[in-house]
Order: sequence, then C-alpha cells, then structure tokens
Amino acid sequence: MRGVVYILITFLLYSCEYKEQKSVTKTKTPQVRVDSIELKSIEAPKVLSIENLKQEGAQWADINLLAPDIALDIRYATNNNFTKKQIYDCPKCLLRLEVAEALLLVKASLSKSGYGLKLFDCYRPLAAQQRLWDIKPDKRYVTPPEKGSMHNRGAAVDITLTDTIGNELEMGTDFDVFSRKAWHNYKDLPKQVIERRILLKNHMEQHGFKSITTEWWHYSYTGKKGYGIRKDFWECL
Ligand SMILES: [Zn+2]
Repeated sequence: MRGVVYILITFLLYSCEYKEQKSVTKTKTPQVRVDSIELKSIEAPKVLSIENLKQEGAQWADINLLAPDIALDIRYATNNNFTKKQIYDCPKCLLRLEVAEALLLVKASLSKSGYGLKLFDCYRPLAAQQRLWDIKPDKRYVTPPEKGSMHNRGAAVDITLTDTIGNELEMGTDFDVFSRKAWHNYKDLPKQVIERRILLKNHMEQHGFKSITTEWWHYSYTGKKGYGIRKDFWECL
C-alpha cells in the first residue's frame, strides 16, 4: 500500500454564529455555527506524525494514518449499531488535530499498562446526527442536531480498551447500549469491568477529555473551545 492519500480538511468560513442553547426559546429555531470545508488530497507517507500534519497546516487528522495500531470499528459504517442501518458510506476516524494529539498521548500511557484502544466513532457529519436523532430522539443518548454534538465538531470519540493485540475487552455492555448498565455509576458489574471503565476514564481525563454520565464509551475533548459544526462527509477512496 504505497502512496497513501490522506485528506487535509481546511476551514474556510463560518456561516453563522453559534448560540448557547439556554438563550433559545422553544418557538425559535436554534442557530448553530456550521463550517464549510474544503477537501484536498495530498500524497503522504504511510504513517504520519502530528509534526508532519502541523507542517502541512492541517487542522484535522486521520487517526488510521497517525496510529494504525489503534483499532477501528466504526459502527455507523456498518449496520451493527442501534439504528440497524449503515449511516456512513465507509469507515473513517477524522479528528481535530489537537484532539488526535491528545488521543495519541492516551494511547502511549495506556500501552505502558498493557492496553490498546479501539474507536467506534469519531467525527460525525451533521446529516448523520440528524438520522440518529430521527431514530432515537432522546437527549440522554443523542444530541439534537440543532444543538450539534461534539462528534459533529470533530472533538469527541467513542472508545474502548483492547489488549495489546487489539482484542476488545469486556466493558459491561456493547457500544450504544442505551441502558442504565452503560452508565459510569452503574456498579452491578464484575470488578474487572468496573476497573477497566475507571482506567479508561482516568487516562482520558488526564489528557483533556471528559466523560458523560450515560455512556462509558463517550469522551469529549475540552482542551480547546469554539470548534464549529461540520456537515461534510469524507471521501471513500
Ligand atoms: Zn459519542
């Protein structure tokens, strides 16, 4: 596999200003800032570094090219997800550069303890968010598209632990199981599972990610604010 092509996504403009939801009344349509982006293909070495991308002026990173040893199981590119439908044409994990950089630090620290990582979802285009909301309009589990998820901003990951050769470890529930059992404070689980959830959470938090109550797999990056929502789907090469 030579001449790997990766996508450099360049921010062009904001179409409108993001407004906090608390200032929005029920009768108004909330405004979100939506970025327009340009996709550009560049010849790149098989494995990139964050430094390579910074030199190119990239604002986004393809995790598979930065860290091919992070396993990918992008569930919305399959029908093995709660919608039972394929939402993406092909799997891809794109993240903001700072988010990718933080994730690499998580990977490095966990590998010292004998663990690896697997990603279920990364950047999620706004139209995909709409499809998820149409199927599950429950704010505990899916962010309304008019607000926009951190996934829509390229600043969230759905992630789990693996062993050193990429085998997924038991975490108590599968990805996107909308039950109390997936909550961080649910304790009726084997001790080893609880310890794994805590281990992942601790490592993610050390590197700028924060968890949410209802999903053990979801983490949003907090190291930088103000990312706009993106609509574009990636190219399937
Ligand atoms: Zn998520």
